[in-house]
Amino acid sequence: MSENQRFLPFSLPDITEQEIQEVVKTLRSGWVTTGPKTKQFEQDFVAYLGDNSLEAIAVNSATSGLHLALEALGITTGDEVIVPTYTFTATAEVVRYLGADPIFVDSDPVTYCIDPACVEAAITPKTKAIIPVHFAGLTAEMDNILAIAKKHGLKVIEDAAHAFPTKYKGKLIGTLESDVTVFSFYANKTMTTGEGGMLVSRNPELIKRAKIMRLHGISRDAFDRYQSKTPAWFYEVIEPGFKYNLPDICSAIGLVQLKRIDEFQQKREALASVYQEALKDLPIKLPHYESKEMGHQHAWHLYPIQLTNKASITREDFILKMSEFGIGCSVHFIPLHRHPVWRDMYQLAPEQFPVAEQLYQNEVSIPLFTKMTMDDQAYVIDAIKKVLGASS
Ligand SMILES: *Cc1c(COP(=O)(O)O)cnc(C)c1O
Repeated sequence: MSENQRFLPFSLPDITEQEIQEVVKTLRSGWVTTGPKTKQFEQDFVAYLGDNSLEAIAVNSATSGLHLALEALGITTGDEVIVPTYTFTATAEVVRYLGADPIFVDSDPVTYCIDPACVEAAITPKTKAIIPVHFAGLTAEMDNILAIAKKHGLKVIEDAAHAFPTKYKGKLIGTLESDVTVFSFYANKTMTTGEGGMLVSRNPELIKRAKIMRLHGISRDAFDRYQSKTPAWFYEVIEPGFKYNLPDICSAIGLVQLKRIDEFQQKREALASVYQEALKDLPIKLPHYESKEMGHQHAWHLYPIQLTNKASITREDFILKMSEFGIGCSVHFIPLHRHPVWRDMYQLAPEQFPVAEQLYQNEVSIPLFTKMTMDDQAYVIDAIKKVLGASS
């Protein structure tokens, strides 16, 4: 490292004095767990999605939201749920929580999202649901997936951990015709509550079930008990539920982040378009994005590039060299079929997933976060050119 070495992490949360003050107010209010801030956060989230037929329930992670969604849809032992191999393990693990089997399928080579043709080929009499993932913030081909689901009577649970706010043909993800959509507010996602998630659905039965299961299977939550006229001490447990509620301390952060989400999206998009232009003549395959004229909007959670075979360097060395410039990179994803748990449980081999394999071998996610300055980005671009042996 040289003496004037910079350090640019792969990602950083964008927290201002506003979020800090909102948390401080919550701490001083005396109500720190799920209560008024969380209710407000849920209402504001639906308001942002702009569709009053939706209901949102806040949860302590997208993983717990996906679990609640599948449970509420009745997924159980012996069922099969189709998931992309090119995702984070949470997408598949929740299927196992219920004793069902995740069925791993390959990705589309353009969007890197689940390939509808592979979905259709994987359907068996045991198939109950599909979990498309909007990789990096770009949508899966939802018209096709919803049509396949309709034809075969399958549920659709969107893993929208990367996709807030993403639009598909003019509609925000969360407002499509799928059964339920789950967002993540993990520290490095497009907005954060530290840890957290939001489950969104139009199905009142699903929402009712998920609300009960979110808090121990209790028929009334703590805040209802506190507010209601029936004695606060009385409650009934009607199911062996979970502990997945989002505390008000987290929702306080979320309320402010949600107000800033359009600004975040614009910043991410601006950074992405600078990358698209600056990196276009290098031995790199740039991420695909759909044109805005079609009503698409990319959330740009990630900026995934692929080194082409014209690059003079391996992906591993590229990441190493970037770190010598003090720049953090990552890989999204190590496909699930490569992780011991899934590989061994379902006897998965790389040859079954040629697109995901090819992606995985060459993919690097380079820094893209709202607190990056233009100067930071110029530094990253310059480093990439040097690492790839192109003059700057
Ligand atoms: C981050 C992530 C999740 C899990 O989100 P948490 O809020 O951390 O539980 C699920 N799916 C995908 C694709 C993710 O990237």
